[in-house]
Amino acid sequence: MDVHRLYIDGRWVDPVEGGRLETRNPATGEVVAAFGRGTAPDVDAAVEAARRAFGGRWGAAVPPRDRATLLLAVAERIRRSRDELATTEATDVGKRLEDAYEDVDEAAYMFEYYAGWATKVDGSIPPVGPEAISLVVHEPVGVSALITPWNFPILMAAQKVAPALAAGCPVILKPAEDTPLTAIALAAIIDEVGFPPGAFNLVTGLGAEAGAALVAHPDVDKVSFTGSEAVGKEIQRVAADTLKRVTLELGGKSPSIVFSDADLDAAFEASAFGVFYNQGEVCSAGSRVLVQRDIYEEAVAAMKAHAEDIRIGDPMDPDASMGPVVSARQRDRIQRYVEIGMREGATVAYQGAVPEALVGSGGFFVPPTIFADVDNSMTIAREEIFGPVMAVIPFDDEDQAIAIANDSPYGLAASVWTSDIGRAMRVSRALQAGIVWINDSQPAPVEAPWGGFKRSGIGRELGKAGIESFLEIKHIYLNLGGDEDGGG
Ligand code: NAD
Repeated sequence: MDVHRLYIDGRWVDPVEGGRLETRNPATGEVVAAFGRGTAPDVDAAVEAARRAFGGRWGAAVPPRDRATLLLAVAERIRRSRDELATTEATDVGKRLEDAYEDVDEAAYMFEYYAGWATKVDGSIPPVGPEAISLVVHEPVGVSALITPWNFPILMAAQKVAPALAAGCPVILKPAEDTPLTAIALAAIIDEVGFPPGAFNLVTGLGAEAGAALVAHPDVDKVSFTGSEAVGKEIQRVAADTLKRVTLELGGKSPSIVFSDADLDAAFEASAFGVFYNQGEVCSAGSRVLVQRDIYEEAVAAMKAHAEDIRIGDPMDPDASMGPVVSARQRDRIQRYVEIGMREGATVAYQGAVPEALVGSGGFFVPPTIFADVDNSMTIAREEIFGPVMAVIPFDDEDQAIAIANDSPYGLAASVWTSDIGRAMRVSRALQAGIVWINDSQPAPVEAPWGGFKRSGIGRELGKAGIESFLEIKHIYLNLGGDEDGGG
């Protein structure tokens, strides 16, 4: 069995306290690898290395084109290792191999995209009057702690590492303890490419240990976190002590709103995809499907038909359309929500079953569930389940659809399905969400901003906003030294 170490200051090292953790294949429940349980002393070493790098080896002093060249080399090596990376990701997360390939390709593109930005962050010269010239420039924000979740491990790592390095920030990556393997593979790629020591560091470990130590560390300038609302709140509280910059990408309870004038086949198919894709373990999952009342029965029947088509299986099986969820803990959590839905009086319109062949396999398989007649006040409509559970909610008109959609503590994403362009735009503008898809579900292009309203987060990633979140703005005011007569 592979035993992975931490990567600090350009070297692979054992954790100071010597602890180890294990990661399992969710399809079998078997341990596939062991990795370092980094704790506070390792975080201290990584932050110190990053701080040293920021003093000269990595940061504003490194020409942007040199940063870009290194990022392009990372992208090239990710593409070269795509088979291995995708297989590792599928085995660690339980996601379908085909989906893991998409994530790996997108991660490579992320490095290419931000390599481009490294040389294109320019400043401005605001007009402050004849006696002075003002220059506005951008500088790297500093040592950055990047903390990622388990549902899209390589993609989330790339989404933070690439813009941070492009901006000139040295980083410490702390991947989720359930799925550390592609972050470790990324560290090996970065090592091979040959970044200056300390520019990139990897500390694997538990959130409550390595993660918490990073967030509390006085010499970390910025925390970029993707994960649960509960941990996001804790991070903001702790980061406040040293006024760290924080970017928080948190959960959601996103609506998919289907009006009766929509292309219904497309709307129903995409709404099913929006909640069942990646086993429902998607922050932007359209887990509340809002359907206009005159097509309600038709919608529930169509969703049911799509759910019946789902083939639960091993992520490596090309015929499987749904793999296991990430862990036994996650499986139990989803099942608890299904029980709550039943107890609170939602109608079970569909409940799938784990195929006979997989029962007793040790895998963490959870069949899809569709709840109909859901009231938006029910727990299953308010809390993020992060599993293949759909809540179908009827509405009468546009105003009611908007009111139900916005009646949520979250505001990450929303879909609007209609053939009326005026309605599409009216509803999009009224929805409290960081992204609104019109007649689509789930695309998250690297070139455009991503992030949430309300409790879905603070700040934005991806696009130009992604690199800006790792930059400080500096205003340099140059007194031109003219006298009062306007002389030179
Ligand atoms: P989580 O909050 O449990 O863990 C996320 C990361 O934070 C892990 O690396 C974990 O080790 C670390 N962590 C845990 N406690 C910590 C602490 N006290 N201090 C510092 N770090 C700590 O989330 P998860 O279960 O891994 O991921 C699922 C959540 O992520 C869902 O809520 C989902 O919506 C969210 N998510 C959001 C987005 C987005 O873009 N908005 C994308 C993917 C996932």
